[in-house]
Amino acid sequence: MEFLVPLIETVLWVIFAVWLIRRIFGRKPGRQARPPKVESQPPAPMKTLHRDPACGTYVAEDISHRLEEEGKVLHFCSEECRMRYIARQRHSARA
Ligand SMILES: [Zn+2]
Repeated sequence: MEFLVPLIETVLWVIFAVWLIRRIFGRKPGRQARPPKVESQPPAPMKTLHRDPACGTYVAEDISHRLEEEGKVLHFCSEECRMRYIARQRHSARA
């Protein structure tokens, strides 16, 4: 494995050199934070997103963990969030 050390070292130096060259010569007038082609795309994806009531994350319908409650379907990002929500509901129902 010792032969790998100079190889990795060389690769790291090359990466560093490329980064340095880009920093010195790659400066462009005016900042271009985003490539222009992104603008034509809608910001929201095609999938329907639902807010996870346990953690507040938005989760896609097709990958969500569902829970039916009072005729409504709730969507959770994980089984953990679903269980947490159920536990919280039970707790608040008792109090
Ligand atoms: Zn969640």
